[in-house]
Amino acid sequence: MRYADSVIDLIGDTPLVRLNRVTEGISATVLAKIEHANPGGSAKDRIARNIIDAAERDGLLKPGGTIVEATSGNTGVGLALIAQQRGYNCVFVVPDKVAEDKRAILRAYGAEVVVTPTAVEADDPQSYYKVSDRLAEEIPGAFKPNQYDNPNGPRSHFESTGPEIWRDTDGRITHFVASVGTGGTITGTGRYLREASGGTVRIVGVDPEGSLYSGGPVHGYHVEGVGEDIWPKAYDPTIVDEIHRVGDAESFAMTRRLAREEGLFVGGSSGMAVVGALRAARTLPAEAVMVVLLPDHGRGYLSKIFDDDWMRAQGFDPDAVIPASDIPGR
Ligand code: PMP
Repeated sequence: MRYADSVIDLIGDTPLVRLNRVTEGISATVLAKIEHANPGGSAKDRIARNIIDAAERDGLLKPGGTIVEATSGNTGVGLALIAQQRGYNCVFVVPDKVAEDKRAILRAYGAEVVVTPTAVEADDPQSYYKVSDRLAEEIPGAFKPNQYDNPNGPRSHFESTGPEIWRDTDGRITHFVASVGTGGTITGTGRYLREASGGTVRIVGVDPEGSLYSGGPVHGYHVEGVGEDIWPKAYDPTIVDEIHRVGDAESFAMTRRLAREEGLFVGGSSGMAVVGALRAARTLPAEAVMVVLLPDHGRGYLSKIFDDDWMRAQGFDPDAVIPASDIPGR
């Protein structure tokens, strides 16, 4: 019989699939790593497992304890599924820009969800960082994973995502592309691939317009789970060779193309990562092998990116098709 002992054992070993349509006009092989194949539907299952394993080892999380975290949803799902399997409680603090369907998913796994305003500074007492800090102090037996600063986040990608990509490309990968949120994915995976290749793999970050990582003015944007207005410790900028700045409209147009043309029903940060990947791939030769990581599933965005009325109300054209040839180079 072939089965896993628990859903936790199904985390990782996600597949690569070649992008065939949105890459029109590009010579390089562009492979997407499908992180929604993780049981919780995102790459964040990986960090959740590593962070909880380490907290148990270090005595920070004891039986019956409560996990308190500021999360845009995916980390919450990962933490919630591990917590329920191991008997912990979960309280998640999410900014109000996070769609109601994403919050419902967290509740479905048995977690409690606290909603805070998005439009406040990080050091405002109402911000999701500060509210989660306060709850972690008030609740007895609370453990705050703090995905922004916890080294076990990037470490999980160094130990799993990187080796999987290296193995599945037979060491032929030349470029790795990832969107940057906490920076854990690009830092851990990028560090592994750089070491494994002797420094030849080029690491490409993709950042939303309005975020700190790619410079320029910091302002609000709609794409979720990526970009930052403070520098987290999980991000090591020395790992990243180039960074592309991508706007909401392009990210959402590509997200919808991925569903319609590649059969990949993924979230907005995946569309954003693919726009950055295509930009970086435009001038690459046919021998180049690029892997772009698609962090999560489209199910959390049904009432937003995949809702024509929402798209129009925000000023985005739901029928926009931005071909690779129209994506401006760097
Ligand atoms: N996309 C989505 C939807 C996410 O939730 C996250 C995690 N915040 C990312 C991308 C970025 O991953 P990381 O935090 O590892 O940079």
